[in-house]
Amino acid sequence: MSVLNKKSVEDLNVSGKKVLVRCDFNVKMEGSKITSDKRIVASLPTIKYLIDNKAKVILCSHLGRPKGGVDPEFSMVPVAKRLSELLGQEVYMAKDVVGESANSLAASLKDGEVLLVENVRFEIGETKNDAELSKKFAALAELFVNDAFGSAHRAHSSTAGVADYLPSAMGYLIKKEIEFMGAALENPKRPLVAILGGAKVSDKIGVIENLLDKCDTLIIGGGMAYTFFAAKGYGYGTSICETDKIETAEAMMEKAKEKGVNFLIPADTKLGKEYAPNTESMTVNSNEIPDGWMGLDIGPKAQQMFSDAIKGAGTIIWNGPMGVSEWENFAAGTIAVAKAVAESGAISIVGGGDSAAAIKKLGFEDKMSHISTGGGASLEFLEGKELPGIAAINDKE
Ligand code: AMP
Repeated sequence: MSVLNKKSVEDLNVSGKKVLVRCDFNVKMEGSKITSDKRIVASLPTIKYLIDNKAKVILCSHLGRPKGGVDPEFSMVPVAKRLSELLGQEVYMAKDVVGESANSLAASLKDGEVLLVENVRFEIGETKNDAELSKKFAALAELFVNDAFGSAHRAHSSTAGVADYLPSAMGYLIKKEIEFMGAALENPKRPLVAILGGAKVSDKIGVIENLLDKCDTLIIGGGMAYTFFAAKGYGYGTSICETDKIETAEAMMEKAKEKGVNFLIPADTKLGKEYAPNTESMTVNSNEIPDGWMGLDIGPKAQQMFSDAIKGAGTIIWNGPMGVSEWENFAAGTIAVAKAVAESGAISIVGGGDSAAAIKKLGFEDKMSHISTGGGASLEFLEGKELPGIAAINDKE
């Protein structure tokens, strides 16, 4: 089933209807103060669309990890306040999630009005995808819109279960994720170049496996490269190497050969004496790493080789830095790749989490076609897994 065929909010007739929207309002907080309202801002297009189209808007989200039910520390009240400022209209705040307060406020909403219910994780059935709770969510509204991509890989009541009981569609945030990532996997503009970095092969085995079936070139950098070095019989000094994954790495390179995928590992490596930002460093060919040194970035030859491969790409999927990019001395590889991606003219998709943070820090945010908002969710998407929060959304007729 193609994710490209899911209904979007624009496919629903929302006028005069009560619409429950699962948002990602999991904002950064210090005490009761919101330190970044980015996620609230990101959800505005869907909310504004619903207001403009005269829906009665009922919002829900999780915030943090409250343990065992109601915990005032994780109340959505500060979110309602900020959202109200951003929308320039009142956002009614329920005292509960699916209880009396939420129900009576939902029932009295007028067209274009907005209600936020309490933290969905105050209900212990939420993370268990409890059917009774899903029914209670559904009873609040007539339609369901999921716009929380970052939680779409979790089968919870408010992300997936509720869609069993209401007609459903995706909001603009999920739509954008699917348009870019779904198209890149199902129908990419070729050549499709995947760049995978970050700390561990074990985190990304599923992604490598899936992308080997789809991409034309696969570039490996970052800490995960050393397991591939070991598979090739190179020394790797004190670099992070997952010795229990060497055979897997070997099998992946074999599979790449069979499939005709251009599989690139760094030709040279910048080494450090210790795992420290200002440690003594030197650059060597990757098959000449001496004992007692660890690889902390790709070298200039690898930068050139990777940049050349990136230059001709039609679509690029990038997940994970090329080295310890948090440290200036070992950031050059990641910067070079970011530059090459930015200048490529290709459709460029950056996975969430650390690589997205690196891109933002380096100031290349605006040069990428799409930066995924969900770390775990985007990895699972790239692994080719079905995300429950997306699978649950109705297909277009
Ligand atoms: P990930 O979350 O898998 O994308 O990994 C990101 C992390 O990988 C970053 O914190 C980097 O510091 C780390 N990393 C990248 N290259 C290396 C390396 N050569 N050695 C150790 N850690 C690395």
